[in-house]
Amino acid sequence: MRDTELYRHLLGLLEPWTVERVELNVPEQRVDVWTAHPTGQRWACPECGADLALYDHAEERVWRHLDSCQFLTYLHARPPRVQCPTHGVRQVRLPWAEARSRFTALFERLAIDVLKATDIRGATRILRISWDEAWHLMAKAVARGQRAKAVHVPTHLGVDEKAIAKGQTYLTLVVDLQRATVEHIADDRTQASFASYFEPLTPAQKASIEAVAMDMWPAYIQAARAHVPGAAEKIVFDRYHIMAHMGKAVDTVRKQEHRTLRAAGDETLTGSKYLWLYAGENVPEAHQARFVELQQRNLKTGRAWALKETLRVLWSYTRTGWARRFWQRWYVWATHSQLPPVVKVARLIKRNLPNVLTYFAHPITNAVCEGLNSKIQTIKKRACGFRNKEHFKTAIYFHCGGLQLYPATHGIPG
Ligand SMILES: [Zn+2]
Repeated sequence: MRDTELYRHLLGLLEPWTVERVELNVPEQRVDVWTAHPTGQRWACPECGADLALYDHAEERVWRHLDSCQFLTYLHARPPRVQCPTHGVRQVRLPWAEARSRFTALFERLAIDVLKATDIRGATRILRISWDEAWHLMAKAVARGQRAKAVHVPTHLGVDEKAIAKGQTYLTLVVDLQRATVEHIADDRTQASFASYFEPLTPAQKASIEAVAMDMWPAYIQAARAHVPGAAEKIVFDRYHIMAHMGKAVDTVRKQEHRTLRAAGDETLTGSKYLWLYAGENVPEAHQARFVELQQRNLKTGRAWALKETLRVLWSYTRTGWARRFWQRWYVWATHSQLPPVVKVARLIKRNLPNVLTYFAHPITNAVCEGLNSKIQTIKKRACGFRNKEHFKTAIYFHCGGLQLYPATHGIPG
């Protein structure tokens, strides 16, 4: 077999394309392959498909292709152009690459698989591409996936903030709670951030949203009220966020009490921070004895912890009426606890109670978001720092967007 024929097969080139010439450059470890087509070949207008004669050729272009063993492999061609009566002079579609790409579709498919499995740095090494090329391929894959994505409005949405750059800046993430995908990312955590998700939606699409899980965050509440018809019955204040508020209150009580005890030479609470974050049944065995002992002392922290643990029960009811009665008892207990941080959270929940209790109509939580958050945390770490926020957003969509990222490989067996 001649090397040109071999490369036609290796590249998967189909009619009318053939390989004209192959050059092997051993010192540079590269193979260059020139493709050609027969004269008299007719071409389709890329816009309307009209069957046309060749008009001329554009300048030679080069595409990075899959390696030939250890050799970097480049495909060269002069793209044919046609003159369509309707669309004027146009370059025809080439079967091996998307328009304007510097990589063949097969190379892009491989790059996407590598980028999914490793970080940007690893991808640059494995694929022998630059950092910018890796980001470019990732951004292209995301754009492709977003273009191909059918209009789909989730019935159950979650919205949450994500701190970046040491908590100085935030992103707003809108999540499809059923598919566990990030649907939309916006800058900041303002009303406008969340509202930007709704802007392209039709009134019917907005009405199809059945429930929205979120923290008791006024900006998000306002945005949901402005855009989701019947939001008053659809907003569900997420139990994990509510429990996080309680967790912080317990920790504040502990810090204050620890400071007071310590001033009197009492080290009872030293090193106990993490014990109070556990749910009762989850305290690790090694710490159980100490935890029981701490609970037997009449500590403010112990009372705050008991209030927190009892609040959990709220979400185990199946009927709103029972949950409401439980809440009333808990609220009296909490507000009489003389633990200011706990009283503060109890009042915060009370102000928002109607949309805490919507949980019993829509038992949704942002637990999915928490799962995605830890995935995003990994992305952030693996990326060895993001040069900019746009890169970070691209990576979130790439890994968590549930998008169809691959280019089509028309005419090439993919
Ligand atoms: Zn045309």
